[in-house]
Amino acid sequence: MLTPVTQEWLQMLSLYGWIWIIPIVERLFPLNKQPFVRSGMINDLIHTYHRLHLHSMLNAAFVAWLVTYAQQHAGQGAYLQGSLANMHWGWSFFALLLMGHVTFYVAHYYSHKIPLLWQFHRVHHSSLTLDSFSTSRFHVIDKALFAAPYLMLVTYFQPDPALIFLYISFRDFWGRYGHGNIKDAHWLGYIVSNPKFHRWHHSNHPEAIDKNFSGEFNFMDYMFGTAYYPKERVPDNFGETGYSNNIIVQHYRPFVDIYNIAKKDGVMALLRKPKPKPVQNYQAAQE
Ligand SMILES: [Zn+2]
Ligand SMILES: [Zn+2]
Repeated sequence: MLTPVTQEWLQMLSLYGWIWIIPIVERLFPLNKQPFVRSGMINDLIHTYHRLHLHSMLNAAFVAWLVTYAQQHAGQGAYLQGSLANMHWGWSFFALLLMGHVTFYVAHYYSHKIPLLWQFHRVHHSSLTLDSFSTSRFHVIDKALFAAPYLMLVTYFQPDPALIFLYISFRDFWGRYGHGNIKDAHWLGYIVSNPKFHRWHHSNHPEAIDKNFSGEFNFMDYMFGTAYYPKERVPDNFGETGYSNNIIVQHYRPFVDIYNIAKKDGVMALLRKPKPKPVQNYQAAQE
């Protein structure tokens, strides 16, 4: 479906295009006043290029291999196995978007709710300034956990690997756009996870904690009541002061934190968040 030349163009856009085109759009249509050069920027660029060169390209090659292997060895079968192999590309792409959205939402939801997973996802949330450079600040384990359910689904349904490549390129663009400091139409945030919508996800405002989990389309947030999208306000407080801006530290610190939690509060504390103390009981106890 995609010619090798188109694939090469998409690859070039991922590597050298969006990373530098979107910051120009951020300068032209800024949502918040914030500096272009900021602390942690070099670290985030190292994240970006190490991830793009190493993971995105490997990812595309790995998925293509997985699907081809599945097509040749497992083929089509019951329960819709391999059903995307011969489907019109439009339907296949729609199915890929849907699978991507659902798996992203679920993985993202649990990466916030399970303390063990949160220690890895916390790296992505540590950026004090949110812009398109902060998109790629991720722990590799967090990235792998987000990708695993999607890989299983595409291996099972076996769509054209070229379409998966197109989808990965689209996600790459959307990730950078969604983290950008860009002012766009408010109504867009009712359909897609636009910059304003995703900013609330990264914010420290109590009313927006554990909200807006979506990657691209955001209907699941509205369906499950996890959307927070006020019209007049824009969040302005992000990240975690004191979390390292060094990619090496960001990769070993979660293990140290996990060890310390298990030592102090026991292994179960890594699987369940402590329940917030009910305020009424406190008041009743005072009376
Ligand atoms: Zn998150
Ligand atoms: Zn994010």
